[in-house]
Amino acid sequence: MGIAAPIEYTIIAQVLLFVDIIIANTFLHYPDFSQFFMLGVPLAVGTDLFLMGVERSYIDQYVIKRQLEENAYRDQLTGAYNRNILSKISKPDTSFDLFDSDGLNIILMDIDFFKKVNDTYGHDKGDVVLQSVATTVNSLIAPSDIFIRWGGEEFIIFTSGSKENAAVLAEKIRSAVETGDNGVCPITISLGVAQYLGGPSNPSIMHADKALYTAKTTGRNKVVEYES
Ligand code: GH3
Ligand code: MG
Ligand code: MG
Repeated sequence: MGIAAPIEYTIIAQVLLFVDIIIANTFLHYPDFSQFFMLGVPLAVGTDLFLMGVERSYIDQYVIKRQLEENAYRDQLTGAYNRNILSKISKPDTSFDLFDSDGLNIILMDIDFFKKVNDTYGHDKGDVVLQSVATTVNSLIAPSDIFIRWGGEEFIIFTSGSKENAAVLAEKIRSAVETGDNGVCPITISLGVAQYLGGPSNPSIMHADKALYTAKTTGRNKVVEYES
């Protein structure tokens, strides 16, 4: 009885069927009415218990499957995506369909002198700083933006819209990290911004990396836009 339906619906359907038979019996006086109930009720209860077990194990499997899928694409420490997400959001040649008509931009960011944070406060506190940076970024990006832990203390954001808007977002993130309290120590970040020009994403990521390198070599704690 409705094995594909949720168990609640199956039970409701069974109860309605039994009520229907009881009402019909008051008029028709079935000769095997009591035998029917002695066999039918335990059978229905047994079926329901079986269906409950099947449904529960199916839900457990589904939750585990979703969790495994999620873990495959998420960085456990920061909750940001990890690099595996690229294969999910881009084509096999790593090119993107532009998020919208204005285009797609890449913001690459790296914490300044992070090694010193680890050396001074310990690796665990360094982890706290990484989590705090991720929280700050998440609070500023749009829901459609893709935020990835690119490696160590380096993150990448794919954000749609104009390059100017991406630079404004990068500056907001830089400023928020500089002025925010991560509970460990003041830190700064450097950011490189580049426009995605179509085709495989690697050259555009390299442009953002070049801009980031310029930010690092010209004083850090700044946003640099890639100029082609
Ligand atoms: P720069 O301003 O040039 O970026 O200097 P930096 O010290 O930040 O750069 P560097 O690449 O030399 O150091 C990165 C450090 O990030 C080294 C590594 O120990 C640390 N790191 C990488 N992953 C993790 C992590 O998951 N947790 C912690 N606590 N530290 C990490
Ligand atoms: Mg660094
Ligand atoms: Mg680095």
